[in-house]
Amino acid sequence: MQEIRELPLLVVDELPSKKMKGRNPLALFHPEMEKYLEVLREKGYELVIDPTNSLYGAGAYFAPSEKLISLNPNSSWQTFLHGFQHLEFHELIKREFYTFQDKIIRQGSSMEDLLQPEIVSYLGPKKIQRLDKLMGQGLPVTAVNETMSVSDELDLIGFKKWVPSALGGKLTSAALTQDYALRHQINELRKILDRGATLTDAQKGALRQALLKRLGGNGVLVADLLIMGVPPVAIISGGIHYIKEKNIYLYKDDEGSWHIVQGIKKNQ
Ligand SMILES: [Zn+2]
Repeated sequence: MQEIRELPLLVVDELPSKKMKGRNPLALFHPEMEKYLEVLREKGYELVIDPTNSLYGAGAYFAPSEKLISLNPNSSWQTFLHGFQHLEFHELIKREFYTFQDKIIRQGSSMEDLLQPEIVSYLGPKKIQRLDKLMGQGLPVTAVNETMSVSDELDLIGFKKWVPSALGGKLTSAALTQDYALRHQINELRKILDRGATLTDAQKGALRQALLKRLGGNGVLVADLLIMGVPPVAIISGGIHYIKEKNIYLYKDDEGSWHIVQGIKKNQ
């Protein structure tokens, strides 16, 4: 795998003159790519095409240390926007993330007051509002970053009716995209618990909300259990799980919903 990465990357110097219409065409053929490419270059980044991305299961990646955004030749505009948001986040927010977050939580500040006015107008009110909300919930940096990228994707593809991932069936592309952000939120908050630290009330609220959205109606129970410190493995894998704290058995059905197994109780 390493040798593949050593191959010279194809730097995009010129975009194809042919443009594609529609909401979500291929990134390289999108009429607005020229504009984005300019911003990217101004910040010292390059856009590269690397067909080996797909070997890693990625549609694109953002590599701040190599100063590039890498796409597959057939990456969609949606995928590019996801990567481009990571670049913006890296350049404008990441370095001072926890300082900003502290001010939002403790002093009720807004990113509008914390960022330079030109950055505020560059990001626009919608993104500022999103940052305030997510950072105010105490979500860790990766969770906020991924959620912001996903929100940009959803702005483009449209957010249809929410389909909880755990209910199985066909997921809309929007639901899959949203699910990606929720997984990051849950995982990053879980890492705090894994370190043995406790969650703030706002973080517990965010965790509960994310779990509820992922798990549908049975999420209340599962969120409750997680917050009480039940090992995550009991929650994420299939099969029947004994939850010591509540002396109950849970199982996940084929459609991904959680149920309490009635009639079995361990004698304590
Ligand atoms: Zn991402």
